[in-house]
Amino acid sequence: MELCDMPAWKLKELIRKGDISPEDILDSVFERIEEVERDLNSYITILKEEAYNQAKEIKARLQKGEDLPLGGIPIAIKDILCTKGIETTCASKILKGFYPPYDATVVERVKRAGAIIIGKTNLDEFAMGSSTENSAFGPTRNPWDRERVPGGSSGGSAAAVAAGETILALGSDTGGSVRQPAAFCGIVGLKPTYGLVSRYGLIAYASSLDQIGPMTKDVRDCALLLQVIAGKDEKDSTSLKVDLPNYLEACRHHDLSGIKIGIPREYISESLDPSVAEVMENSKRVFEKLGATVKEISLPHTEYALPTYYIIAPAEASSNLARYDGVQYGLRVKGKSLRDMYLETRTKGFGDEVKRRIMIGTYVLSAGYYDAFYLKALKVRRLVKADFDEAFKEVDYILTPTSPTPAFKLGEKIEDPILMYLSDVFTVPVNLAGICAISINGGFSKENLPIGIQLIGRALDEFGLLKIASAFETETELQGCRPFGR
Ligand code: GLN
Repeated sequence: MELCDMPAWKLKELIRKGDISPEDILDSVFERIEEVERDLNSYITILKEEAYNQAKEIKARLQKGEDLPLGGIPIAIKDILCTKGIETTCASKILKGFYPPYDATVVERVKRAGAIIIGKTNLDEFAMGSSTENSAFGPTRNPWDRERVPGGSSGGSAAAVAAGETILALGSDTGGSVRQPAAFCGIVGLKPTYGLVSRYGLIAYASSLDQIGPMTKDVRDCALLLQVIAGKDEKDSTSLKVDLPNYLEACRHHDLSGIKIGIPREYISESLDPSVAEVMENSKRVFEKLGATVKEISLPHTEYALPTYYIIAPAEASSNLARYDGVQYGLRVKGKSLRDMYLETRTKGFGDEVKRRIMIGTYVLSAGYYDAFYLKALKVRRLVKADFDEAFKEVDYILTPTSPTPAFKLGEKIEDPILMYLSDVFTVPVNLAGICAISINGGFSKENLPIGIQLIGRALDEFGLLKIASAFETETELQGCRPFGR
């Protein structure tokens, strides 16, 4: 197996034993990028020279005996996270030429841990989308089948991890943007509990829903990366002060006896793709074999989650995106007057989906409609959360498909926003409730497309999620499957 297809924890061992150096990993990763990036378009910015410079520095720190949890491991960063002095575009024309004067907290933390930043990955503009087709830099393609989308909005990060164009990646998840692309590309993606990871330097889409999460080749890497990015940050008042467990410990216990898992009946409908239904059946059997009991549960307000999300998220987006007016950031299109300049900049700078969200959001927040839409949505959000609270009295974890279908074809849903929105129907409720969930590969379709399963846990039970995900992974050995270099 090529180095670029290996997980970080294995590479760390090889570095520690002196078998390889951080430069060897970079050689392997950049060779793969050379081979596949022209087709996949996972990256908006590639930082090759900078990466080799960082590698030298890390090597010296390792030689001095510094303990670096991610020492010498390449990482790709979704281009919605601020990186000091490195262009940060959100895949939007409106931010072209924006070089943040600071690093996001997660970026600062991975750097401190010795990771090597090798590039900024493609996404749907401002993270609005489920296919990475809404990017001003062209779509990313799925490494398992280049006719298909990698999912979104963190599609570039997912494709890069799956294809061996990086070892680790960071994504952001507002309604499923870490988990759904992870599922479509056959990797692991975690949406942490709201507040576990600092959002400082994450360019805001919908602030009450956004979380940054690890996207990795396996569960152990997910634990490794979460350990580095989680924890209180004075710069984000919504970040939580909690004692972090040792997440890697979670990957050592594989007996699930006594654990109760629920499958919500509302998530298993006729509209599930047969291959997804089959993977769900198999996964249920695997968990039972591991000692867990699996039973049916109900989350009665499930059908309201998506419409609720599509009021709250655009409402917050319309207000967050008001700052892009040609004055402070990126693009400025000249106009005859100040008002004209605002208008021209926003007309030329934003893509269609972003404009659609701004219009919906402005509408639901406007006088006369606020109570009918926005306020009502906030109330329904409480009901969705209450469903989970009730369910967690009965079971410890909830098992669902990550998305109703495997990766779809490029162009298949882009003309029909509602159809596109539906691919997040199983991930959105988790963000509304503020709890945590992980997507791992659960199997393959007949066309050899990966199919993700989602495990949902109580607030701040990432340790438990990693534990059952790791048990599943060890039993099935599915996470080792890669599109290239097998
Ligand atoms: N697809 C959903 C949306 O477009 C979720 C995106 C996300 O999680 N950033 O809003």
